[in-house]
Amino acid sequence: MSLLKIFQLNASYGAIQALYDINLDVREGEVVALMGRNGMGKSTTVKSICRLIPSHGEMHFAGHDLQVLPSHRAAQLGIGLVPEGRRCFHSLSVYENLISAHRSGFWNFRKVIKLFPKLGERRAQKAISLSGGEQQMLAIGRALMTNPKLLILDEATEGLAPLIRQEIWAVISKLKDQTGLSILVIDKSINELKAVCDRVFIVERGKTVWKGSAAQISTKVVEDFLGV
Ligand code: ATP
Repeated sequence: MSLLKIFQLNASYGAIQALYDINLDVREGEVVALMGRNGMGKSTTVKSICRLIPSHGEMHFAGHDLQVLPSHRAAQLGIGLVPEGRRCFHSLSVYENLISAHRSGFWNFRKVIKLFPKLGERRAQKAISLSGGEQQMLAIGRALMTNPKLLILDEATEGLAPLIRQEIWAVISKLKDQTGLSILVIDKSINELKAVCDRVFIVERGKTVWKGSAAQISTKVVEDFLGV
């Protein structure tokens, strides 16, 4: 059953149209990738789902019409966003960042620091003093603390050192295998996505141009839609 279903989604920034008929769905317990070259509309799709920008078209989440809801209601319904650029509260400690996001459910401070032991070691440190990788872990931890039904990771491995990237991919795998959380990942790491994702949607110039299983991403698909 689809947890998130988007049909013919359109969105604009003023006079500039960024999305033309995006179609996408995420089923319960599935990891889905949204891929595409730079500037093709991935982040705009995410912002539309989170109701951060106005859009037109059908968007249903957990039986609710997202189009009629403000962003805080979308979050309350269980859409947890790890935004591009992390956006932790720099002046708050790791503990305060996590606790301030908490809503009741499976995830709590203890479980998040078990998933990311480094956050436990740094619990009293201000977020601004963390490395980029640690801030990314904190951003994921914050989203988990909201106890989402759907976790959206927008470029969560971008700009990180290879070892930290591996750690983030391992966490995504663990979340998939051990918690059955539905996850929508926006990333450019084709091999890592193929290893963890069930299905993939590719966007080009604001349109969904390809969808299939991760195993169906052929060299031709990469050349046609993802190559530089
Ligand atoms: P990237 O991989 O580089 O993050 P993306 O696929 O996420 O790219 P979007 O950020 O969704 O792409 O951008 C889609 C289109 O909308 C691009 O043409 C971009 O220039 C435009 N755009 C994005 N944000 C704005 C904005 N705030 N104002 C005007 N145009 C914007």
